[in-house]
Amino acid sequence: MAYNTKQQLAILQRLKEHGNTPVTAQDLSEELHQDGFSVSLATVYRQLEKLAETGRVHKISTGAGALYQPCPRQAGQCCLLLRCEDCGRMEHLDCPQFQDLCRQLGAEQGFQVDGRQTVLTGRCRICGKKEAASHGPA
Ligand SMILES: [Zn+2]
Ligand SMILES: [Zn+2]
Repeated sequence: MAYNTKQQLAILQRLKEHGNTPVTAQDLSEELHQDGFSVSLATVYRQLEKLAETGRVHKISTGAGALYQPCPRQAGQCCLLLRCEDCGRMEHLDCPQFQDLCRQLGAEQGFQVDGRQTVLTGRCRICGKKEAASHGPA
């Protein structure tokens, strides 16, 4: 196996372990170091960019820098991601209507939705519940 491929797999594996919590390249590189994987931050960035280009990883730009999360979907599908502002979790929304909307936009408006970075920001159900509890009747 080529060295580059090995690095990419290690990075992807690490990302998957984070599940629905997107991570920064910095965090990822530190974790790989702790695993005894000697890979520079620049390499981690480069590999993440490659993975993002091919659609295997979502790259989400935030005020604090880019976050990365693996994509479990088939290439070519439109993803709609829900990102919680409070806890930072990000989930794929299963929504056939959104796939239809993407197709419709393409057919009617000639607009191609970039399914790699379609994110709705808000508050997840867990954080919503916490909020409701802290404002509940005394
Ligand atoms: Zn996705
Ligand atoms: Zn949350």
